[in-house]
Amino acid sequence: MLTDHMNELTPEEGLVFVPLGGAGEIGMNLNLYGYNDQWIMIDLGVTFQDQCGVQVVAPDPKFIEENKDNLHALILTHAHEDHVGAIPYLWSRLRCPIYATPFTMEIVKNKLTEAGIIGQVELHTIPLGGQIELGDFKIQYVHLTHSIPEPNGLLIETPLGRIFHTGDWKIDPHPVIGNEMDVPALKKIGDEGVLAMVCDSTNVFELGNAGSEQNVREALIDLVKKQKNRVVITCFASNIARLDSCIEAAKQSGRFVVFVGRSMDTMINAATDTNYFSHIPHRISIEKAADLPRDQVLYVCTGSQGEAKAALKRIARNSYPNIRLDKGDVVIFSSRRIPGNEERISEVKNDLVRSGVTILDHKESLIHVSGHPFRDDLQKMYEWIRPKIAVPIHGEYQHLMEHGRFAKEECGVKKVIIPENGSFVILGPDEPQIVERVHHGYLGNDGHDMIDMYGSIIRDRQKLSINGVVFASLHWDQDKHKILDVQVSSRGVIEIGIESQNFEQNMAEKIFEFVKNNKKLASHHLEEEVRLLIRRQINRLRGIKPLVIIHNHD
Ligand SMILES: [Zn+2]
Ligand SMILES: [Zn+2]
Repeated sequence: MLTDHMNELTPEEGLVFVPLGGAGEIGMNLNLYGYNDQWIMIDLGVTFQDQCGVQVVAPDPKFIEENKDNLHALILTHAHEDHVGAIPYLWSRLRCPIYATPFTMEIVKNKLTEAGIIGQVELHTIPLGGQIELGDFKIQYVHLTHSIPEPNGLLIETPLGRIFHTGDWKIDPHPVIGNEMDVPALKKIGDEGVLAMVCDSTNVFELGNAGSEQNVREALIDLVKKQKNRVVITCFASNIARLDSCIEAAKQSGRFVVFVGRSMDTMINAATDTNYFSHIPHRISIEKAADLPRDQVLYVCTGSQGEAKAALKRIARNSYPNIRLDKGDVVIFSSRRIPGNEERISEVKNDLVRSGVTILDHKESLIHVSGHPFRDDLQKMYEWIRPKIAVPIHGEYQHLMEHGRFAKEECGVKKVIIPENGSFVILGPDEPQIVERVHHGYLGNDGHDMIDMYGSIIRDRQKLSINGVVFASLHWDQDKHKILDVQVSSRGVIEIGIESQNFEQNMAEKIFEFVKNNKKLASHHLEEEVRLLIRRQINRLRGIKPLVIIHNHD
């Protein structure tokens, strides 16, 4: 996975695209464009996972970190975590200015403030449709539609050609909040000629079009109107249009609206500061809502993915202060199930059902639409932009390959390049191709630091969690001629108690005998032989191969 060479590659010779994240996975986007020894970075995101004590993973930026003197800026398309989430973790390695439109900038400022580094970062807020000039790059923001305010495509103009970087998008004719897609601008971009389109692949396997927030709004209003008791809607806090629809559903059904969860507050504040919300009618606090009759309250909360610390999980466990659900109350999942979260979502649903709560999800009615383009949306975008080269990103390898095939066979694009993280893609002036693979990888947030997800810390944690660990300490006399004592202890190998004590003592005796009879062995050979002895014994006894650590005391 990691190739450490070729980091000296520069875009001297041509126009270059290098994804370091998001090409081979949905999440943690990091895209680089290079020309004439200069770089710009588009987006810097994370993925959330739960692996060996790491919850947040970001792309390893080492390649651009080593070229950071030539990095003009980080330019953000929109405020989703998979596009901005790594900024507080990685900015200090890059120390470049950041450009974003107003809503995205509010979210970024929040993150930088929490990280305590806001004073160090040069921030530029760009109006919708605005332009930036950075060395030989001219960048134009183009307004698209997605599932968050201000989703932007970027037209990147260079002396060697124009690239349209879509960011995340879909065609939503009625986005509820924010502008409609700027189709005339897209057609004009196409008319003026585009060398390459670097495009969202998330939903390439879905037929038809992604649908509109307006339809969800109507379905949610209808659904809430039918309910007789408490209603909880869980959705992504960043989907401001969805929150607005929840507010409207509350209004039309004579309910007060209550927002629950920290990220709800963050997103609502950002939306209010950037004029997407003004006053929210009928909004009340959690405390006040507790005294209301059951048919007068609508909670909107985080936790649709079953996240352990999110509001819904705590509500389902009956441990959220001042919120209580009873038999006959309803929880509406206005969200999609992100692959990997199935088990956690099921847990929350089981907890809710156990308390007599009714669950409604997309099976009931259209209470969620995706923010990413289905095939018909993609086809339209290719008709408008008409790129010479299609470069699918924002997808697993299967999505990228299918997107490439679709672009070529069904949208008439002549050349397709399927990048992977680290691909050094020449877009021009020569024949477009992948010429090398630069350093790429993953960094996980672990307490205070970002650690290498392919490094020994994670490898050891994996081994420990699967097979346990055995420690053996060898104690010698002063001249290291005579073994005096051996101590063995273990974790995760034998059930703690009499059984493990017997095993450890027995093992210590065996090692003692072995060392006494083989004390002429060189120290490192002796340690290796002891390690093998322990592993053989445990493998025979338990059929597992734990991590073995020898302390050879002088
Ligand atoms: Zn995304
Ligand atoms: Zn997005």
